[in-house]
Amino acid sequence: MQQPSRQSLQVAAVPAQRGAVRDRTDDAPWHTEAVCRRDEAGLFFAPSKEPTAARLSREEAAKRVCARCPVMVECREHALLQPEPYGVWGGLTAAERRVVLARRRRRDLELQKAAHATGIAAAG
Ligand code: SF4
Repeated sequence: MQQPSRQSLQVAAVPAQRGAVRDRTDDAPWHTEAVCRRDEAGLFFAPSKEPTAARLSREEAAKRVCARCPVMVECREHALLQPEPYGVWGGLTAAERRVVLARRRRRDLELQKAAHATGIAAAG
């Protein structure tokens, strides 16, 4: 599938990084249904030197937008798989995504250990 250029999206509220394409079952890129496409409030990425209280308030507002977005799952997985280091994606802040990724890594390690132990038990 041909990927659209970031400029071709011409959607001011969707950061350039959100132009990344992930196929949906109907072959349309997920970001074409992003609720944040027409949001011009700048909720999803921090301006420089943003005070903590303002950041928390902005992130909560962004999460409320994400909560009504039909592509929240796709967006979140995209941000986790890249991984996207900044901004609110799929209802998660960058810090929350780091926690999810750490949990996934731990889970994968435990599964590998269990598979290894099972292999040893089967061979013995
Ligand atoms: S889940 Fe949030 S960040 Fe992702 S496309 Fe939807 S509104 Fe935008």
